[in-house]
Amino acid sequence: MKISDRDVLLVIDVQNDFCTGGALAVPDGEKVVPAVNRIAQKFANVVLTQDWHPDDHVSFAPNHARKQPFQTIELDYGTQVLWPSHCVQGSSGAEFHRDLEVARANLVVRKGFRRGIDSYSALFENDRKTPTGLLGYLRERELKTIFVAGLALDFCVRFSAEDARKAGFEVAVIEDACRGIDLDGSCATAHRSFAELGISVVSFEALL
Ligand SMILES: [Zn+2]
Repeated sequence: MKISDRDVLLVIDVQNDFCTGGALAVPDGEKVVPAVNRIAQKFANVVLTQDWHPDDHVSFAPNHARKQPFQTIELDYGTQVLWPSHCVQGSSGAEFHRDLEVARANLVVRKGFRRGIDSYSALFENDRKTPTGLLGYLRERELKTIFVAGLALDFCVRFSAEDARKAGFEVAVIEDACRGIDLDGSCATAHRSFAELGISVVSFEALL
């Protein structure tokens, strides 16, 4: 598979809190780092996202009476999963994994920084209409195919890939450069959605 100068690698949330020992660890989350670093060498355009919450964020279970992590609540914009507190702005948990080659990135997009709304997607917050600005960046720079890697496959990777596809981009999820949380079959749901929307699923070796 040939990568052009108009393609972009979108690396989702490779942060300490999503890796082993972190507050919301994705199983083997840190194992995406060597793959992401290798693939990134092939791209002229690399964008990183960083989950970046205030400590009173609405998605944090401890901010709700009698709620446990992974339960849900209903908000104006729909059902929201409650998570352990994670990726608090300025905390070490919110930092990128120390082995991630951040210097390769042309852009870092922070998301989830508004107290009352979560943002799984790198393009739109969870109300599905508040833009993060990334879509404008991709369009203005006339980028073509979005290759998505990172954490977690079944949440932020999935929603980012879906939004990019719905916005008209070609999208490929680099499956073995992602890891999932797999809450109630959410990895299988993500794969079904990729197939329905015409999102390719590729292996990172195919890009080397
Ligand atoms: Zn978050």
